[in-house]
Amino acid sequence: MGFKCLSCKKIIEKLDNRIRCPYCGYRIFLKQRPVTVKRVQAK
Ligand SMILES: [Zn+2]
Repeated sequence: MGFKCLSCKKIIEKLDNRIRCPYCGYRIFLKQRPVTVKRVQAK
């Protein structure tokens, strides 16, 4: 699971204490979700 920079759209695997994009210095990220789809069956 990583974080996607909203500015340069790069995926950062590790974020240190200071959350900043190592590429562009942006501070807003999207959390990447693991690709698992849960299905709930309605009864
Ligand atoms: Zn960035």
